[in-house]
Amino acid sequence: MSEAKREAKIEAKIEAAGDTIFSKIIAGTIPARIVHDDDRCLVFHDVNPQAPVHLLVIPKRGIVNVAALEAEDASLVGHLVLVAAEVARKLGITAGYRLVFNCGRDGGQSVDHLHLHLLAGRPLTWPPG
Ligand code: AMP
Repeated sequence: MSEAKREAKIEAKIEAAGDTIFSKIIAGTIPARIVHDDDRCLVFHDVNPQAPVHLLVIPKRGIVNVAALEAEDASLVGHLVLVAAEVARKLGITAGYRLVFNCGRDGGQSVDHLHLHLLAGRPLTWPPG
């Protein structure tokens, strides 16, 4: 794929993701407790934590959710998961954690910008509600 075509596709994805609360956090126009920031993703504390540790790992590119991912996003998604594991290690989370992508209405997704929840600090029950 040409660079121009690739850029156009990325732009289209950003437009599709729209102006969410997470794009504002990426732009720095609303505050967040950021724990990791690199060229591809951001990790910050969830404002309404469901466990003693509740972080969100989000790509800086505006992708709506898992259902909107394409094959070329594989490396980005891998990066999100690896960053989650690295942050968990750095925070000294040794008893385990849960990573969750909510997708769509029935999946419980409320913000239309791809995000990976990292939950830890208490035993998490299964199945989820
Ligand atoms: P989901 O329901 O999977 O779409 O998750 C969205 C998450 O974003 C929820 O857990 C919210 O508590 C969280 N959230 C919403 N607004 C903010 C914000 N401004 N800062 C941090 N987390 C937020």
